[in-house]
Amino acid sequence: MTDTKGQVIKCKAAVAWEKEKPLTIEDVEVAPPKAGEVRIKVLASGVCHTDAYTLDGHDPEGIFPVILGHEGGGIVESVGEGVTSVKEGDHVIPLYIPQCRECKFCKSPKTNLCSKIRDTQGKGVMPDGTTRFTCKGKEIYHFMGCSTFSQYTVVAEISVAKVEPGSVCAIFGLGAVGLAVAMGCRERGAKRIIGIDLNPNKFEIAKPFGCTEFLNPNDHSKPIQEVLINMTDGGCDYTFECIGNVNVMRAALEACHKGWGQSVIIGVAAAGKEISTRPFQLVTGRVWKGTAFGGWKSRDSVPVLVEDYMNKKIMIDEFITYTKPLDEINTAFELMHQGKALRSVVLLE
Ligand SMILES: [Zn+2]
Ligand SMILES: [Zn+2]
Repeated sequence: MTDTKGQVIKCKAAVAWEKEKPLTIEDVEVAPPKAGEVRIKVLASGVCHTDAYTLDGHDPEGIFPVILGHEGGGIVESVGEGVTSVKEGDHVIPLYIPQCRECKFCKSPKTNLCSKIRDTQGKGVMPDGTTRFTCKGKEIYHFMGCSTFSQYTVVAEISVAKVEPGSVCAIFGLGAVGLAVAMGCRERGAKRIIGIDLNPNKFEIAKPFGCTEFLNPNDHSKPIQEVLINMTDGGCDYTFECIGNVNVMRAALEACHKGWGQSVIIGVAAAGKEISTRPFQLVTGRVWKGTAFGGWKSRDSVPVLVEDYMNKKIMIDEFITYTKPLDEINTAFELMHQGKALRSVVLLE
């Protein structure tokens, strides 16, 4: 039994006090897990556009003060009453899409969008409606049910995937698994389109495909789709939009091959944005779809993906551009905004 079990833990976390302001490293208190909850010592966390999307004020559901971060890995410190699927010392990955195995979404083989704790997760609280974080006497909200920019975090048991011991340290940023590891610059349009989907049941694993030439999706004098179609003998078999730019989404669809091309939307567009294309694009056999977490049932699939990664069947390391200590987390955000980082990983130990 750990000596912190049942106690409030004081530790460091990057707190977002308000939108459009840099994160600040604070001493926070993390309450013990309640029934059905798990407290995790976070080892590392990826820094993602989705964190920036909320921090920059684009998320209409964004709530502050909050501890961001949703792509982490760590070790179970203690568990709350009734928790049976993990125990102290287990290596785990917090999941922003849970898997309760009871709701109609979990029971359907067609989707991974478990709805069990969607409402409270969206409001930045645990399933009982309260938070486990405080700082300077103020309650701090949770983010995407994960809040991995803290040395300790509390998540619901249904939001935890158990993985093999020893693998956690090697899988920094694996929270990005099943999505896409993507590069682009949200502000200035994509400099590259590079995508890899990791669900071989649904898509072939695509070779990362780079367009090194500067292509601005907002510049209609030289649309990306035309260039890609010329480069690929009629269009791509699969394309993935990963940066939340609706112009790139259109370009990605129209860059698909007639008859069989599929374009998958992964990026989260800003509030109020809409997509458009000529319907003839779909009539002629292109498929336009989206995915969250790669369509994977999270608790079932993440351990398998981790194993595949450990066996070198899927690439992750190649997408990690920088590793930074927690107190340089704002630099990691800057590098992402500048388009210099595919993924930065923050170490929390
Ligand atoms: Zn992410
Ligand atoms: Zn469910």
